[in-house]
Amino acid sequence: MKVLVAVKRVVDPYVKVRVLKDGSGVETANVKMSMNPFCEIAVEEAIRLKESGSVNEVIVVSIGDKAVQETLRNALALGADRAFHIEAAASPEPLAVAKILKAMVEQEQPKLVLLGKQSIDTDNNQVAQMLAALTSRPQGTFASQVKLSGEHVEVTREINGGLETLKLTLPAIISTDLRLNEPRYASLPNIMKAKRKPLDVLDVDSLGVNLSPKHQVLEVLAPKARPAGVKVATVDELIDKLTNEAKVL
Ligand code: AMP
Repeated sequence: MKVLVAVKRVVDPYVKVRVLKDGSGVETANVKMSMNPFCEIAVEEAIRLKESGSVNEVIVVSIGDKAVQETLRNALALGADRAFHIEAAASPEPLAVAKILKAMVEQEQPKLVLLGKQSIDTDNNQVAQMLAALTSRPQGTFASQVKLSGEHVEVTREINGGLETLKLTLPAIISTDLRLNEPRYASLPNIMKAKRKPLDVLDVDSLGVNLSPKHQVLEVLAPKARPAGVKVATVDELIDKLTNEAKVL
């Protein structure tokens, strides 16, 4: 059984993001980039399924400029078997990403596609759902547990007020939530081995997907700076400030 995992390269979650002066986006030049954390969880889950014997091949795919190859090599070092880099100037809009992934699903015929629930840079939370619709495959989003059994996969999802478990018929699409697993680090020998694993580069045109954007970002603003906090000496002073200054009591 094959698993396809979509991985996005994003600004590292521990980097302080800076908005460009012209408000057109955020600074990415000379900024540390990493695999989207939810995609790391998706890669980890695929590798665990392979280690448990239910999966025999893990394929990773990333769409973007040449730099995404570094992210793909990282996924190969973690244990994926092969990788596809779909060349595009930058990461396209979610619908275009979903159409590209649909083309990859048609080419590779994976029984399972794992995606992150959300890109932490653009916070879309759209690609997995769109891919499920485009491929007419069942979807289990925000998975906190994944269990394969025969021609089905059980997905436990975190929903408002509790957990919901769905039984999906394979082939299926799953998006991963934070508590699904704790991703491993790549070992040095595996980083070396990953250099020899297959990484194919595909032109987006060869997949017949039109990348022209359907929406336009008008402005990106940094959050307003928060005023500094103050220390109060006594509880009475705190109550006084809450009553008379903040007017919340
Ligand atoms: P989003 O809908 O943009 O929040 O992204 C959800 C998931 O779709 C991500 O966690 C990835 O698994 C996948 N995805 C989004 N953009 C890309 C991309 N450029 N390349 C590969 N996978 C992507």
